[in-house]
Amino acid sequence: MKIDGFVLLLASDGTFKLDGGAMFGIVPKPVWERYFKPDERNKITLGTNVLVIKNENKVALVDLGIGNKFDKKLEDIYEINRTKTLLQDLSEKGIERGDVTHIFITHGHLDHTGWTTTYNHNELEPTFPNAKYIMQEDTLKEIKEPNQKTKPNYNYLNFQNLDSHIELLNGDEEIFPGVELVKSGGHTKGHQVVIVRVGNKTFIYFGDLIPTSAHIKPAYVMAYDLYPMDTFSKKKEILEKAYEEQWTLFFEHDPVTSTAQLADIESYSLKKISI
Ligand SMILES: [Zn+2]
Repeated sequence: MKIDGFVLLLASDGTFKLDGGAMFGIVPKPVWERYFKPDERNKITLGTNVLVIKNENKVALVDLGIGNKFDKKLEDIYEINRTKTLLQDLSEKGIERGDVTHIFITHGHLDHTGWTTTYNHNELEPTFPNAKYIMQEDTLKEIKEPNQKTKPNYNYLNFQNLDSHIELLNGDEEIFPGVELVKSGGHTKGHQVVIVRVGNKTFIYFGDLIPTSAHIKPAYVMAYDLYPMDTFSKKKEILEKAYEEQWTLFFEHDPVTSTAQLADIESYSLKKISI
């Protein structure tokens, strides 16, 4: 969509699979399987929707898909399925690696940071050489100091040789006019969401605060979340505002409904829209 000098669009790194029960936490299976049909291993298919925010002199990407730096075991776990990579999809949309000026990282998990780095002759280097990679200070801490519970969620190859490109934030910050990063916590301590305000319209990219449209209800919190009560209260707070002002909502992991608006705040029903 083009609006007031901005272009907003979604790119994709294909789909992958995660355990349906873990994705829906305390939500009973008969309820969540109405939205996502599990396979024989109880896994569900998720999207990797990357938001592109462009204006006259900036190109920002929000999160970077699942990437290609996996061994056989992880490939079997995640069952990545794609006809093209995020880099190929961006290129088809007219965006080359060198054009990108900003990468906003919602949090460090491997399904959000896949294309941060790529191999060049066996050496890892930043995939987007001219971009600042912006994340919360707490996120970098969580990446660098994992514990037994959090370690499997990271792929350390995604952060090798990246230090000189990383810019850290400590709380909410407007990065350029109209584009704000808001620290939400919840899923991880340093998790942030992205809010774009152009003209009289507001857009929000939730990252893993609300990963799919089926997670819209505040109590539908993933078992992966480290601070579930923070997820619950932050969702409630943001969705009240999003309903009042009819914000456009982006769902990173929804393979079908990537964009919607709230139709009702009591039932949290959505209306699908396209951008
Ligand atoms: Zn995720």
